[in-house]
Amino acid sequence: MVTTTSAFDAALSRLTIDLGAVRQNYRRLRRELGGVPCAGVVKADGYGLGADHVAPVLYEEGCRTFFVATFDEAVALRQFIPADAEIACLNGLLAGTEAAFVEHRIIPVVNALDQIDRWRAQGATAGRALPAMLHVDTGMNRLGLDGREMDRVADDPALLDGIEWRYVLSHLAIADEPDHPMNAQQLARFRKMRARLPVAMKASLANSSGIFLGPEFHHDLGRPGIALYGGRPSAGRDNPMLCPIRIEGRILQLRTVEAGWTVGYGGSWRAERETRIATVAAGYADGYLRSLSSAGRVAVGGRLCNVVGRVSMDMITVDVSDVPAFDAVPGGMVEVLGPTVTPDAMADMAGTIGYELLTSLGSRYIRHYVDTTA
Ligand SMILES: *Cc1c(COP(=O)(O)O)cnc(C)c1O
Repeated sequence: MVTTTSAFDAALSRLTIDLGAVRQNYRRLRRELGGVPCAGVVKADGYGLGADHVAPVLYEEGCRTFFVATFDEAVALRQFIPADAEIACLNGLLAGTEAAFVEHRIIPVVNALDQIDRWRAQGATAGRALPAMLHVDTGMNRLGLDGREMDRVADDPALLDGIEWRYVLSHLAIADEPDHPMNAQQLARFRKMRARLPVAMKASLANSSGIFLGPEFHHDLGRPGIALYGGRPSAGRDNPMLCPIRIEGRILQLRTVEAGWTVGYGGSWRAERETRIATVAAGYADGYLRSLSSAGRVAVGGRLCNVVGRVSMDMITVDVSDVPAFDAVPGGMVEVLGPTVTPDAMADMAGTIGYELLTSLGSRYIRHYVDTTA
């Protein structure tokens, strides 16, 4: 929901998205890719940030290839970016959807031989070879032609006829661990499979993490998602990306809890000393994961404070005993997620990953888009 600034000012909890940080992240990834073009992966509504806002900004930065997961996402995206941008649908080509793909000019990333047959047939109906990308499996074992299907293609080159092939692509399984041997294995398999194709195709292998594995992973197109949105590309290394999101929740009430009392549902947290508790407007209905109960941290006046007790639907309770009184006042804003408590940091505390956290952002926040770079 996008609202006026006054509603934003009055909101109990709000989500600010800095499109300028997304721009900078795209530029950073382009630098890493050298001269290789950089696509934008905007599936799941731009990883929760809003594909309607993110995609036009990427387009302005020069992005011309966009990936989504589903056909519905692809159709929705069409209205937000100019007609010369390509939209590719990663989840493949379900039987019966071929004409709709043509109508909306969506490029299927086909992952099985029957999809290739149907797309060729659709092209015959349309009177021209239709564009597609070819997904091959190099170890993810999720989507893409497997070794046996590759054998068939190599034996019978006609299987790939009648389609305008844009890219052959594959997906890395452990690219966020740069030293993992699987990265080199997948790269070797990808090169081999590509070489066996009866038609020459440009190639794309690297997601966000893959881009940071070095030039041999870049091929002809980078496909970053999470890094655009501030996620760390490599586990255990410094994160070069900027965090574009900030979630703030208002302090609804402050109270002093005596030693021995518990806070929240289940009485799961007990005060060991007299404790100043701030009740903050952000709960699991806002995507503040319940697994952050007595585990999360928020920033109050720039100071990290522990979430104590269970996360409720609409509220969390925070130990602000060490925060100066003027920084913790009813109506004051607390940084729940943002540059201080990044999505990756919060995900680590919650036992999940930044991807899940971003795509779980609730719809109740008042959203506000800014662009600090344009
Ligand atoms: C989601 C996805 C990407 C983007 O991955 P990130 O890790 O978010 O950069 C790239 N390629 C495929 C096939 C995907 O499914």
